[in-house]
Amino acid sequence: MADIVYEYMGGLYLNITNDCPCKCVFCIRDKMETLGSASEMWHEANPDFESIKKALNEFDTSKYSEVVFCGYGEPTCAFENLVKTAKYIKENYGFKIRVNTNGLGNLINKRDITPELCEIADVISISLNAPNAERYLQVTRNDFGIESFDAMLDFTKKCVEKNANVRMTVVDVIKPEEIEECAKIAQAIGAKFVSREYTTE
Ligand code: SF4
Repeated sequence: MADIVYEYMGGLYLNITNDCPCKCVFCIRDKMETLGSASEMWHEANPDFESIKKALNEFDTSKYSEVVFCGYGEPTCAFENLVKTAKYIKENYGFKIRVNTNGLGNLINKRDITPELCEIADVISISLNAPNAERYLQVTRNDFGIESFDAMLDFTKKCVEKNANVRMTVVDVIKPEEIEECAKIAQAIGAKFVSREYTTE
C-alpha cells in the first residue's frame, strides 16, 4: 500500500493523489520509485478522506508544525479531499498548510477553486516553469494545450488578489535568461519567486 503521509527533507508531506494533467520534463515521479521516508508512492487507488485521516493519525507528527500537500501527483486533482484534509489538520493539529501546485486547478476542476484554496492554505507554491506559453507546454507537456500558461497565470493572480502568500517556482532545467524572465513575471504578479535546482534525489 502506498504512503499517504511521509517525511521528506525534514518536512511533513501528504501524497493524496497520483493524478496529474502534466508530464513535466523534470518530474521526480519518472526518476524515483519512492521519496523520503515513503516506501511506495504509487497508490493502487487514490485514497479517500477516511484513509488520509487514518494515515495522518497513525504517523508520528510530533516534531512538525507545517504540512505540505505535494506527493506523486497534483493535489488539486483531489480538491475535495485536499480541502477536507486541510480543515481537519487545522482543527486537530494546528499546523500551517502549504500546497504545492501546478496552478492548473481551475482547468482541472472546471471552476474557480481559488477562494476555497486561499482559505485553507497558508502558503501556495505554484510552478511557473517557463516564461511563455510555448516553452511552458514544452516543459510541462500538459493535457490542456497552449491555453494552459495563461490559465496558470490567471490562477496565480486570483490567489494574489486574495492576499494569499504565493510563490512561483521554476526548476533550473530552463536557460538562465528564461529564469530571469520568470522572476520578472512573478514580480509583476506580486508573487515571491524561487528557482529550484534540478535534482533526482
Ligand atoms: S505537475 Fe508535478 S506531479 Fe505533475 S508532472 Fe509536473 S512535476 Fe510531476
